[in-house]
Amino acid sequence: WLTFVFDISVQITAEAEAAKAVNQLAVAMEAIPDGFALFDEQERFITCNATFRKLYPDISALLVKGATFKSILRADVATGNYRIPRSQHPIWIETRLAQYRDGGSTAEVERTDGRWFRVLERPTSTGGRVAFTIDITRTKTRQVELENAALTDALTGLLNRRGISDRISKTDQWVTAGERIAFLHLDLDKFKTVNDALGHEAGDFVLTTVSSKLLEMAGERAEIARVGGDEFVVALPSEHGEDQVFAFAETLRAAITQPSYYKERLCQVGASIGISFWCPNGSDPLEQALLDADTALMQGKTLGRNRTVVFRKRMRAQAVEMAQIASKIKESLREERFVPFFQPQIEWPSGRVCGFETLVRWIGEDGSVTPAGAFINVANETGLILDIDREMLALGLDALYNLTQEGFENPSLSINLSSAMLRSPDLLDTVLDAVGWRGLQHEQINIEILESTLLDDRSDTIGTNINALAEAGFRIELDDFGTGHTALASLRKFPVHRIKIDRSLIKTIDSDPSLQAITEGIFSLCQRLGVDTIAEGIETDAELAVLSQIGISKFQGYMLAKPMSYSALLRWLADRGDLQSRHVSEA
Ligand code: C2E
Ligand code: MG
Ligand code: MG
Repeated sequence: WLTFVFDISVQITAEAEAAKAVNQLAVAMEAIPDGFALFDEQERFITCNATFRKLYPDISALLVKGATFKSILRADVATGNYRIPRSQHPIWIETRLAQYRDGGSTAEVERTDGRWFRVLERPTSTGGRVAFTIDITRTKTRQVELENAALTDALTGLLNRRGISDRISKTDQWVTAGERIAFLHLDLDKFKTVNDALGHEAGDFVLTTVSSKLLEMAGERAEIARVGGDEFVVALPSEHGEDQVFAFAETLRAAITQPSYYKERLCQVGASIGISFWCPNGSDPLEQALLDADTALMQGKTLGRNRTVVFRKRMRAQAVEMAQIASKIKESLREERFVPFFQPQIEWPSGRVCGFETLVRWIGEDGSVTPAGAFINVANETGLILDIDREMLALGLDALYNLTQEGFENPSLSINLSSAMLRSPDLLDTVLDAVGWRGLQHEQINIEILESTLLDDRSDTIGTNINALAEAGFRIELDDFGTGHTALASLRKFPVHRIKIDRSLIKTIDSDPSLQAITEGIFSLCQRLGVDTIAEGIETDAELAVLSQIGISKFQGYMLAKPMSYSALLRWLADRGDLQSRHVSEA
């Protein structure tokens, strides 16, 4: 017998070390919170941790030593756990396999059970792979929530501006053949008044009420967004023609205009709607159609709100022009290039100057003078009229004060105030302040109000302001009398001191007996009501003669005096000998 004795203590130690290492690896693997698996250089499964098995319960039985990565993939996709059509399984497997072999990429996959996995494989030193699967469902859900929040309006739950853009960009999922999209851009009229007068809660109530009405009426397939404070967009895929969409818009408007009550307070708003259409096979991008609806809406507002207007191509140019004028107005306001001109008002037959009307003029860089009529609409629509009116109030009152200093006795001044100005809650204070520190008498000032402004007043702010101004002793004058529909009713409703008969009743009055009859009627009515009259736009002797005959004794018009700058006015008055003063400044 030969006895061999081997010293295997090194081996034993090595095996013990190896066992320890494997044990440590297992402990380490289990300590990893994510799914972890190990593959050898032949893409064969070696081992994985319990989390890995939990993440893939359907294929856990296949996770045995020697199973190839590809066979595992194939089994995994076959379970139907991914949102992939069967026909695309082979491509999906190839793609994932390429990622595995690449060893540097990371993929995020959505599972049919709503879970999201981030999967990545990285090379080991021996050419195998370590595979990680991380459950990122919570992060993803949060991400989706954030994305949704960024696309929806918190108050109404409708989409917001970004949301509607995002949604309509996916028209392929939404519009069927033969359909086009009608965009209805809706703007609430008088929303601000409700908000200011009844508070934000009432304002929110109005917005949510409108939003429910839109949801209810526009139907399942419509996309609805709140795209601004009180602006909404309804995008409607349909085969309907323009007339039907217009009729639908009108029913929407009617529903929105219905009064509603918040804590027993009446909240009533109006609505203007602009409509545009987008055809899938047309040349205009969708975003353009959205802009076009807005342009049509603007047009509707300029025409006097509370109406539906369908977009026409020419409106694009008009909108651009309007925006250009608006930006020039802003610039000119900063540069103080709006000045008041003064048109004298003459008593006839004495010829005495009994007052002046301030009319804003826009002085160009070249010294050109643009009359109010050329820009007042844009100023009104853009809200810039408020700044213009404030400026004209201050400069007009300066002139009134200076006229007294120049020796003109007891001058009176008519000032045109816009709807926007008449709607400001602090109007009375503004006027009192401006008049007070200049030491002017209230009855020297006529506030000219357009009839259209009175028609615009559903919230009564304007009425309240007019009453307050009248009570404070300012004189209220109805401008452009005879051009509207409710002029006579306004005489009863508001404390009117004087009406100004519009040129439309005066032009050709000398040859038109019916105009004479109307003007006579107005004059005698005013006399009986104790309301003073003045006629504007007198251009000929004949017009003046007929109006004098009727009994009117105060006039304004080119024939008597044109609107002029303050310095020209001083010269004009001096030439007539109307200034008692020491000197006429050459300002
Ligand atoms: P309005 O207040 O009715 O002013 C009369 C308009 O007729 C003025 O045009 C005036 O220049 C013009 N006019 C005066 N006499 C005659 C005449 O004999 N024949 C003819 N054909 N026209 C005459 P303007 O200055 O272009 O103003 C247009 C409108 O703009 C004004 O009509 C007024 O409603 C508004 N406006 C003018 N200045 C202001 C302002 O400072 N603020 C506001 N809110 N509106 C203003
Ligand atoms: Mg006027
Ligand atoms: Mg007028």
